[in-house]
Amino acid sequence: MVHAIRIHDYGGPEALKWEEVEVGAPGPGEARIRQTAVGLNYIDIYIRTGLYPQPSLPFVPGMEGAGVVTAIGAGVDEVAVGDRVAYAGAIGSYAEERLIPADRLVKIPDAISDETAAAMMLQGMTARYLLRKTYDVGPGTWLLFHAAAGGVGLIVCQWARALGATMIGTVGSPEKAEIARDHGCHHVINYREEDFVARTREITEGRGVDVAYDSVGKDTFPGSLDCLRPLGLWVSFGQSSGPLPPFDLGILAQKGSLFATRPSLFTYIAKREDLLETANDLIDMVVSDKVKIEINQRYPLAEAARAHADLEARRTTGSTILLP
Ligand code: NDP
Repeated sequence: MVHAIRIHDYGGPEALKWEEVEVGAPGPGEARIRQTAVGLNYIDIYIRTGLYPQPSLPFVPGMEGAGVVTAIGAGVDEVAVGDRVAYAGAIGSYAEERLIPADRLVKIPDAISDETAAAMMLQGMTARYLLRKTYDVGPGTWLLFHAAAGGVGLIVCQWARALGATMIGTVGSPEKAEIARDHGCHHVINYREEDFVARTREITEGRGVDVAYDSVGKDTFPGSLDCLRPLGLWVSFGQSSGPLPPFDLGILAQKGSLFATRPSLFTYIAKREDLLETANDLIDMVVSDKVKIEINQRYPLAEAARAHADLEARRTTGSTILLP
């Protein structure tokens, strides 16, 4: 038996229960891993509340972790016993040990610690596909990014600058503004005090940004659309403040023949070759120090409820890990 957090009923942070669970031997295509660090992500909140319902209850939540392979099942050739590995996207990470499809695992080089690996896989691969695949961000690109001092946000601040783009970031406090600026964000707007649409139009001298990345959802809709240049791209990739209301597609025509997408990391890394390309680009950025993964909060895994409460209350910055 090992310890894990389980959810029996959807709800608040108190739904996260520290319990004993059976892990078992890996089946065909699976690996068993002993986890040394687990990543905390906003999607864990959507899953805990039931916004993203799971096939059955109870279940072990969590989408990201790092550790060591302790056993492999038949037909596994992606990893071997003793490999240091990390992953994002396979639910069940809030556990001391777990089984996982081996084709979801990525080997981690010595230059990257287990804590950094657990903190970076989901948020870092998200930053990568948003900047390199959803839109081809490069020199000359103007981008708007909400929650710029958050987990994905601080990685995007550094990566967008490395690509030569100009970033306008929004944040919820003066302290977060300083953190975003320190990580390379060119223009920072405290959207609790300033009108982010008016400020974005002012900063871009009326032109608007090429791409607006919006993971805040309800509170920044439809403002983000008003920040775009004609034919610009609206990337709605999350809803930290609540889901978007239903809207008429005609709004895209009214606001300048805009493009819109609602992407998910898991589509972009569904094929193993895409997972490896995305992860290896992230690993290169981290090993070469172009992107530093800021682990600003650490909690014992048993206290995952406290970590969830802090993330939901906007008390965290950068990345957060849970330690088994
Ligand atoms: P963050 O660390 O960015 O935390 C969320 C932040 O959102 C808060 O710190 C806060 O920053 C901001 N926020 C604004 N309004 C609210 C609100 N009402 N309640 C809570 N937070 C609010 O989390 P992550 O880096 O883990 O994820 C960022 C977003 O990206 C999430 O929405 C997540 O779902 C999404 N995401 C989407 C992926 C995809 O592929 N589609 C993959 C990964 C993440 P501030 O105080 O500065 O406003």
